[in-house]
Amino acid sequence: MEERRTVPVKLDVDSADAALLEDTIDEFLWAANHVTRHAFDGESVTTSKTTLHDDTYEDVREETPLHSNHVQAARNKAADAAKSVVKKWKQGKKASMPHFTSPHLVYDHRTATFHDKYVSLATVDGRIEADYVLPDEERDTPHAEYFFSEEYETTGAELHYSNDNWMLHIHCKTDVESDTSKQATTENGTVLGVDLGVNNLAVASTGTFWTGEEFDHWRREYEKRRGDFQEHGTRWAHENMQAVGRKETGRFKLTLHRISNELVAEARENECSVIAFEDLTDIRERTGASWGHEWAFNRLYDYVEYKAAEYGIDVEQVAPENTSRRCSTCGFTHPDNRESEDFECLKCGYENHADYNAAKNIGLRYLRRNQTGDDGGAPVGVRLNSGTLNANGAYEPPATTSGQSASPR
Ligand SMILES: [Zn+2]
Repeated sequence: MEERRTVPVKLDVDSADAALLEDTIDEFLWAANHVTRHAFDGESVTTSKTTLHDDTYEDVREETPLHSNHVQAARNKAADAAKSVVKKWKQGKKASMPHFTSPHLVYDHRTATFHDKYVSLATVDGRIEADYVLPDEERDTPHAEYFFSEEYETTGAELHYSNDNWMLHIHCKTDVESDTSKQATTENGTVLGVDLGVNNLAVASTGTFWTGEEFDHWRREYEKRRGDFQEHGTRWAHENMQAVGRKETGRFKLTLHRISNELVAEARENECSVIAFEDLTDIRERTGASWGHEWAFNRLYDYVEYKAAEYGIDVEQVAPENTSRRCSTCGFTHPDNRESEDFECLKCGYENHADYNAAKNIGLRYLRRNQTGDDGGAPVGVRLNSGTLNANGAYEPPATTSGQSASPR
């Protein structure tokens, strides 16, 4: 069987080349819309690619300077869209003739050539070359790994233009023998509980902490510079402020990408089949987090979700109530169990970092919610630094290091 991946890569495009790409996109959208109108022009909708090809290919070739494979890609796009409309009609749903407006362009192996550091792309006037913009930390992401891996074959790409960025969504595929190895690791997996917060952006039930310092630094810088610009109050200052905003947002995102990669790596190394977060709704009210933190938590969750999906790891949210006040060892719940970063259970005396205790509770809550009696592939425990915690809160040391004391528990 085949495994397919899509790798988003930013391109460095100079203004002359950008103008060419824009023209090419305009022509491509025109061609796709032209074929779509033809498909819907008649008593019934034409969805056959061959028929649409025979009916429109010569016309479109005459009307536009598009590469012949771009003409075919536009026709395929129109045919697929027409098919999906007809399918909706058959299901009794409403749908009307599609009209393509979002700036994008479909490339295949004839219209794009993927080199190590740059891509060569066909336009309405010859080819252009554009470098990949990949900071080192992005080269190591699971996504980028596929693209740079020799085991993956590049099959094509979609070029998108949005927020002043040229992005290439590159499609890769590889042959895999079967997916049994993947299933074996996820079948009786464990759950990684993750607590999100202000002092520590994320803390995992394995005892790994990601501090909020880097994030706080960016946020303070951003607010400081924004203050400087606002003092001037001119149009120039306003535009600069927005530029700072975009740049800083980009930096926040890089930090969050790195943390999400590390969280997913943590789950993989510990053979977790699920990563559990607390429900993010109302997190500002519960934790006193700023709007910036809320934004960061949601981003981080999204990044972890799509990156984890690449490895068949589910990402879930659990009810957030009392995860910071409840003792992960005996279950006793009291607001006085916690004092800022310290957790000390008033009943059993269990002591640990408050965020770590919360991460364990989040993992446990997921386990209990999903215990149905039969195992059914559900995770069997919360992964700790060493060993696991089962749904009853009982600690099990790892089989391989029995007798060794595990910490943190
Ligand atoms: Zn306790």
